[in-house]
Amino acid sequence: MKNLNVKTGDTVVVITGKDAGKQGKVLSVNPSENRIVVEGVNIVSRHQKARKAQEKSSIVKKEGSIDVSNVMVVCPTCGKATRVKHTVNEEGKNVRICKCGAALDKKFVKDAKKAKKQASEEVKAVKAADKAKAEKAEPVKRAVEKKVKATAVNTKEASKPTAAKKSQRGV
Ligand SMILES: [Zn+2]
Repeated sequence: MKNLNVKTGDTVVVITGKDAGKQGKVLSVNPSENRIVVEGVNIVSRHQKARKAQEKSSIVKKEGSIDVSNVMVVCPTCGKATRVKHTVNEEGKNVRICKCGAALDKKFVKDAKKAKKQASEEVKAVKAADKAKAEKAEPVKRAVEKKVKATAVNTKEASKPTAAKKSQRGV
């Protein structure tokens, strides 16, 4: 089966024909015939015959299919009509990409958002860990300073071993 650039659930804009400029959601695709049905686009009247006694024959207005080449996919991220590019993501899956670089497939858009959220949470966690580390390091730093001072005193008062011992004990 051929893979169309347009998939069910996409928002597309019609670029040619009587419905040019109309936007709608893709209701169904027929890859073997290169045709799609878009919500509110190419409304055709069909005569529907009554099948049961209670039913009345009527004219039903319904979307007719249009050629897939008559539409462009509207990117859910940047909102612009785009030519569809294809790429393969880290998981080896085919992803349709907008010229802006965002994924056109909604599931991948969602994934991207999730990944972004996860990434920012990781950054937060790292920052929190860094902060904790810094707080933990603070008394050590002070102790080191104290020791440095003590050593200075020690060198100065090297002639007085008792005093030096005392200050060392204080560390
Ligand atoms: Zn885009």
